Amino acid sequence: MRRYSSFGLLLAVLPLMGATSVAAGAEEFPTGYSDAPKLPNSQWRVHDEARPRPPIVAPGAAGISAKPPADAVVLFDGTNLNAWKTVKDGSPAKWKVVDGYMEVTAGAGDIQTRAEFGDSQLHVEFATPAKPINRSQGRGNSGVFLYGMYEVQVLDSFENLTYADGQASAIYGQSPPLVNASRPPGEWQTYDIIYTGPRFKDGKVVTPGHVTVLHNGVLTQNHTELLGASRHHALPALVVHGPAGPIQLQDHDYPVRFRNIWIRPIGREAG
Ligand code: MG
Repeated sequence: MRRYSSFGLLLAVLPLMGATSVAAGAEEFPTGYSDAPKLPNSQWRVHDEARPRPPIVAPGAAGISAKPPADAVVLFDGTNLNAWKTVKDGSPAKWKVVDGYMEVTAGAGDIQTRAEFGDSQLHVEFATPAKPINRSQGRGNSGVFLYGMYEVQVLDSFENLTYADGQASAIYGQSPPLVNASRPPGEWQTYDIIYTGPRFKDGKVVTPGHVTVLHNGVLTQNHTELLGASRHHALPALVVHGPAGPIQLQDHDYPVRFRNIWIRPIGREAG
């Protein structure tokens, strides 16, 4: 509640600040849109400015797991990026690795796992920059893409207003998290993501994909249906894909850090 109150105070003070700078920030990093298409079976538009933001829940101490389960495939143990490649040309991933974490190197591009995975349990730890800059989508933006296309948003969502379907732990452009369980910038946070991919036949979805997410140990996506590949300011796209795909991390120009990434394929055979 305290955090929410201070954020409310910030909002109250904003109109008193220089009109020029606020207007410039609003233009570059809007907190929502009113002109995007309407989501199917929903009253909301993509990134709808009017869509209620999830309530804030301060996470407990749960979530950080130092050691992967014995049967996990370790994708990043803090020492090297051997399991990862640059998306655009397949070359070795060029993000910085230091002190047990990897960090987005702006301009190096998105990276993805060399291996591909189907239905899985995925653990990711991340930290957004300790000194936040910008606002809305301009603050600590990155992302974890399942099958290289369904984005579980990574963002500094601590006292940072943005559209509901774009904040941390949202399925980007589709489904806001149930609550905002974000820790402050600079602190390590966890995602535990359990997902089943969609099944396709003759170019159509016959069984939708679903995603469950725990953010810092707090349930934020509960078997949420995947509506399609994540897009900015556009409807989720139907992209037919195989039963397995890479895990992808986003270079959105902010030095977001990742560590302790592991995955446990859960074995449902491709339909
Ligand atoms: Mg992102």
